[in-house]
Amino acid sequence: MEYPSNISTKLPKVSTTIFSVMSALAKEHNAYNLSQGFPDFEVSPKLIEHVHAEMRAGFNQYAPMEGAIELREQVAIKTEKLYGAHYNPEKEVTITAGGTQALYTAFTATIREEDEVILFTPAYDSYAPAIELCGGKPIYVPLEAPHYKIDWNEVKKLINRRTRMIVINTPHNPTGTIFSADDMAHLESITRDNDIIILSDEVYEHTVLDGFQHQSIARYPKLAERSFIIGSFGKTFNVTGWKVGFCLAPTNLMREFRKVHQYMVFSVNTPIQRAIAEFLKDENNYIHIPDLFQEKRDFFIRALNGSRFKVTPTQGTYFQLLNYSNISDEKDTEFAKRLTVEHKVASIPVSVFYHNPTRDQVLRFCFAKQEETLEKAADILCRL
Ligand code: PMP
Ligand code: GLN
Repeated sequence: MEYPSNISTKLPKVSTTIFSVMSALAKEHNAYNLSQGFPDFEVSPKLIEHVHAEMRAGFNQYAPMEGAIELREQVAIKTEKLYGAHYNPEKEVTITAGGTQALYTAFTATIREEDEVILFTPAYDSYAPAIELCGGKPIYVPLEAPHYKIDWNEVKKLINRRTRMIVINTPHNPTGTIFSADDMAHLESITRDNDIIILSDEVYEHTVLDGFQHQSIARYPKLAERSFIIGSFGKTFNVTGWKVGFCLAPTNLMREFRKVHQYMVFSVNTPIQRAIAEFLKDENNYIHIPDLFQEKRDFFIRALNGSRFKVTPTQGTYFQLLNYSNISDEKDTEFAKRLTVEHKVASIPVSVFYHNPTRDQVLRFCFAKQEETLEKAADILCRL
């Protein structure tokens, strides 16, 4: 069937997201799927049991629009414990249908026609389309492999009276880099004399590796008072299919956020919110997460020993970039496809996260996998 007229598309440059494309290709060719970021190991049985208990106890109807108060309280407690910031659970915490919805809602609630939004590329692929649908204009700041460091003096030059927002993402998808305290000081300095909003995508807050400290916006009161912070329980508790996340923001920003949220989803599924609230009460359920992923990263890198890939160990997230310039001259999109179809290992080409795709020969591999999966995939990669 076809709509019997021309549709003037609102997103002419957008096609199906790379995550759907590569996961579908992996399935079609029965490849090890290290592309889309999701774990292939068991979820905590305790967490699953909490969900069952909530359902059995009858918590199966609408949650409050802002989220179950039990979960908002636990998010506030965790934020205070880890980052020393107090967020009022009544007014400054909202539970969302994953990080994606939280991001979309924050953009929709604040970006107007002609507003400029600074994005560092490579950037997670949902940011720019959301901004454009609001009539906003993404201003791209390309970062260079392999360290993807931000030159804050260059960022400062881009700021003008139309700059409405700066989006940051630490730990960073797809590069696996993290912000330092110095980055935060620069961000504080360039936003001191203006009213720019910061959107801080912190969905990988619990996967900062090598003993580094997560530079949450919440640690910096001057930044926190102008910021949305986005989190994802899907990422934190290895349940990406549950699609539950949260947003933290000062009261007046959150008021606007909720005006949109209430009509975008109204509220998020009740038993899972309550189960996560229960699970968060024990800090042992989250403080050891970096150890698990550090082990997996190290296992994957060790397994790649002797391969022709160039590796700069990732600092955060559960993604490892691998440079394949010693193996092939192909474009990353082509190489990623061939690797999936012919060699049965799926990855994500990094160039798709740039506005002007680079010729960098870099692929992103998800190592949130069982050792057996990583071993088998690495074995194939070592033979290239
Ligand atoms: N931001 C980044 C950087 C991500 O990688 C993801 C994917 N998990 C999201 C946001 C969206 O999170 P969710 O799956 O909770 O929607
Ligand atoms: N965040 C995940 C990734 O980067 C995927 C999310 C999605 O499929 N939309 O791979």
